[in-house]
Amino acid sequence: MPDPNFSLCVYCGSKPGDEPAFTESAVQVGQWIAQHGGQLVYGGGRNGLMGVVADATLAAGGRVVGVIPRALVEKEWAHNGCTELHVVENMHERKSMMAERADAFLALPGGIGTFEEFFEVWTWRQLGYHNKPIGLLNLNGYYDPLLTFLNSVVKQRFMDTWQMDLIQSDSDAHQLLPRLIQAAGMPTPFLSQAI
Ligand code: AMP
Repeated sequence: MPDPNFSLCVYCGSKPGDEPAFTESAVQVGQWIAQHGGQLVYGGGRNGLMGVVADATLAAGGRVVGVIPRALVEKEWAHNGCTELHVVENMHERKSMMAERADAFLALPGGIGTFEEFFEVWTWRQLGYHNKPIGLLNLNGYYDPLLTFLNSVVKQRFMDTWQMDLIQSDSDAHQLLPRLIQAAGMPTPFLSQAI
């Protein structure tokens, strides 16, 4: 398999959520990565939206890098079909390896694990630890309450608008994905291929 054009780190629920649109969109994200010669970097699980994105990437012929702590493997939550599966000692190692391997980050709907990962790479970016694009896929308004809250944080002056500008949100994966990859400095010609 040739070297990937880019590596996208996807954070998302270890549960599927209650709307078929979440699963459909997770499939679209996985297919888009593979169709554009990219590589998925993710938490290495087979449950929920995580498993859906990984399966869709693999089924479309893409590479999948999973990074999972040993304790979760022992609970049999690892996805054994990953192109590379890295078993690490703890969550800190997992998150730093995922971040190092990524050119850009994308959060889909999820729970507190997803939020924690998204906020961590956002805070790292505001501190200048990395300069990689960060996307929030706001499917069916899932993240509207969070975005409303974050805008109120700006109004109440615990955050500046430049910090908000470090994240990109969109309700449509096909709009957001090319923006993220272009912002990561990847060459654009392959993005003009049909999706
Ligand atoms: P959550 O959003 O709370 O479902 O957590 C999902 C995120 O946390 C994923 O992006 C994973 O990195 C991590 N995570 C939580 N639960 C699991 C699990 N059962 N298997 C693998 N990773 C998980």
